[in-house]
Amino acid sequence: MIWYPYEQMKGMKAPYQIVDAEGVYLYTKNRKLIDSVASWWSVIHGYKHPELNQAILEQAERFSHVMLGGLTHVPVQRLAEKLEQFLPGDLNHIFFSDSGSVAVEVALKMALQFYRNRGEKRRTMVLALEHAYHGDTFKAMEVGDDADYHFVMEAYGPSAYVKHIPTQIEALEEAFEKYHDRLHAMIVEPLLQAAGGMRMYEVSFLRRARELCDQYEVLLIFDEVATGFGRTGHRFAADLVLPDILVLGKALTGGYIGHAVTVANQKVFDGFYDDHAEHALMHGPTFAGNALACSAALKSIELFETQKEMEKIKRIEEITRREMMDFSDPRIQEIRMMGGCVCIEVKDAMTLKGYQQFAYERGVFSRPFLQCLYAMVPYVIGEEELVQVLDTMKAWFAR
Ligand SMILES: *Cc1c(COP(=O)(O)O)cnc(C)c1O
Repeated sequence: MIWYPYEQMKGMKAPYQIVDAEGVYLYTKNRKLIDSVASWWSVIHGYKHPELNQAILEQAERFSHVMLGGLTHVPVQRLAEKLEQFLPGDLNHIFFSDSGSVAVEVALKMALQFYRNRGEKRRTMVLALEHAYHGDTFKAMEVGDDADYHFVMEAYGPSAYVKHIPTQIEALEEAFEKYHDRLHAMIVEPLLQAAGGMRMYEVSFLRRARELCDQYEVLLIFDEVATGFGRTGHRFAADLVLPDILVLGKALTGGYIGHAVTVANQKVFDGFYDDHAEHALMHGPTFAGNALACSAALKSIELFETQKEMEKIKRIEEITRREMMDFSDPRIQEIRMMGGCVCIEVKDAMTLKGYQQFAYERGVFSRPFLQCLYAMVPYVIGEEELVQVLDTMKAWFAR
């Protein structure tokens, strides 16, 4: 049997069986649903995109995968070149892995080893944010702050290696004052903390973080697995504030094949580049640089540019703001919007119980979590479909 993710298997509601998908639509045997989740925020160009399919099929005709150990190939080379040119600043050194969590692990390992390679042994700590989510593997859980994983903290005791702070400049300054000589990295989901409850915060916090990281020589890591490729209304938060290490996943391949990258700037790369074999980055996922994933990612980035996705996201935000303008309900705590993300946070999570089925009956697939009723639609969504998604959210409160 399938052991489903994030589910208490006992009494689990049967998942919807998908038999086909195209554009923004998922198809069950007898229903058509707008995917307001974009398959965990990744399917930005929609399903069954002819060019993405073509790119994958063409590569499959040659080979689907060869390892990057001792071998290389055109799709991974072209994707690395493309990312170098597409990403801001000197984020030019691309390390490939098969999932966002692993790419986060690589980023944290990179930052720690950067200082070990220089012989700085005191820097064992990472600064992270409250309500952070960085993936489900162990170090990612440790820098994360998800209540679902607090059993780990209970098991091992609070971590001496990670400090969590709120997204307030005062707390940030205080943390640097206290820990600056012991920190090797600060990791954040910039602007939008997605899985931690669709929490949004100001770019001024990131600017101050950059200043403090510069002042105390701490590496700044942006986990843009969720925010990358336009979701916040910016291509990348890294376009606003430049990190030392950038992590991308989810939408990297247009959501077609799981893949992720950890991108280092020149300074970080130079910290490994020397005559000591033991200073090498010892990491290598079996499927790193998978040729099908790289082909999909290349095509996805090309579509991102040629299909003017940033304009589409702006349009999504405009329509969302218009539709939500006068909407309120006493059960709602706050309505938050940013780029291609809208979240209705309710006061009591129980308020959302039954919403998924309600939406299903109205032709929308939704998956509320915590107190969040949210939409992160594929960018190819039409106005009418987007309004249908938003109307369904509003209708839940009008019952
Ligand atoms: C989803 C997510 C991850 C984990 O990515 P996986 O591919 O699921 O391992 C890490 N960081 C952030 C911000 C995410 O949203």
